[in-house]
Amino acid sequence: MKDIQMVDLKSQYHKIKEEIDSKVLEVIESSAFINGYAVKDFQANLEKYLDVRNVIPCGNGTDALQVAMMALGLKPGDEVITAPFTFIATAEVVALLGLKPVFVDVEEGTFNIDVKKIEAAITPNTKAIVPVHLFGQCCDMEPILAIAKKHNIFVIEDACQAIGAEYTFTDGTVKKAGTMGTVGCTSFFPSKNLGCYGDGGALFTQDDELAHTIRGIVNHGMFTRYYHDMIGVNSRLDSIQAAILDIKLKHLDEYNEARRKAADYYDKAFSGLENVTIPERAKYSRHIFHQYTLKIKNVDRQRVIDEMKKIGVPVMIYYPVPLHLQKAFANAGGKLGDFPITEKLCNEVISLPMHTELDEEQQRFIVENIVKYL
Ligand SMILES: *Cc1c(COP(=O)(O)O)cnc(C)c1O
Repeated sequence: MKDIQMVDLKSQYHKIKEEIDSKVLEVIESSAFINGYAVKDFQANLEKYLDVRNVIPCGNGTDALQVAMMALGLKPGDEVITAPFTFIATAEVVALLGLKPVFVDVEEGTFNIDVKKIEAAITPNTKAIVPVHLFGQCCDMEPILAIAKKHNIFVIEDACQAIGAEYTFTDGTVKKAGTMGTVGCTSFFPSKNLGCYGDGGALFTQDDELAHTIRGIVNHGMFTRYYHDMIGVNSRLDSIQAAILDIKLKHLDEYNEARRKAADYYDKAFSGLENVTIPERAKYSRHIFHQYTLKIKNVDRQRVIDEMKKIGVPVMIYYPVPLHLQKAFANAGGKLGDFPITEKLCNEVISLPMHTELDEEQQRFIVENIVKYL
């Protein structure tokens, strides 16, 4: 049996090695390293794939979120609503810009922001909501967009874990994660569903004017060379990374399908077990399983992790500490009990190996051994 990893990037690479190697060498030979044709090609192909008017590549997903907030003109003191059950980056950039993160608890089933609790958190200072499409499943966007419209606030989608995931509106319209709000953000970190071989990210928007501002901000606030209209940042996607992403984009649907298939296998194997809950699949979203995350109860979670590690099966906790209880946010006044669902999830979740190269032999081995401890 092949070694089991959380993400098997090497086997995935080997399947497309020839194409990748020749394209990378071609970019090097061209020496168009920054904003070269490879970036423009990838940008155009991703716009087509997502059916969005503007893709603006940038340095990473964290930058994408930061630039989105800068481009929307958010000012120190403005409040930004998001979930406390996510990767730190989402709220980190809020704090970095002097904005105030306001957390709203998540749903126990989908792990995503609880739409029913959003309005209670809105104040006259609320300027944006950041729904995080966690683990590859879309938040319930239709009601979120309605709330945002009613209160005249921006929606910044954190689609870092959900590129290619789809949301179905009640009228049957289907849209891709990151293309529904004012602006969407994604990450091409290697382990993400569309990952490059280093850091990368992008913003998406249907709004041409906002896209123009974003293009300026990622390039030092510069629209005409050496004329700087605003304070920006330096956040670019390398041409080599863009070339790699352009090849992998052609496989994205197939990659997401492979993850879904692996999730189906896990679902079947774990459903019916008493102290395990399989991840809920919301009717409105097509899940792309960035992570496959179980909830386990009345089980020594650390023992499961340790025992599995001994036999070469990595099992991870995404995420062990809610954002409102992170040391970095100690001054924000969060305390235990503020967001009970998130706090409960942090104690119960375990994420299993999930990637495009998992085979049945590996999955059988993982399942057979985990159930011993459940
Ligand atoms: C990965 C991730 C980010 C940050 O992306 P980077 O490219 O690593 O900066 C932000 N939000 C979420 C939910 C993520 O999973």
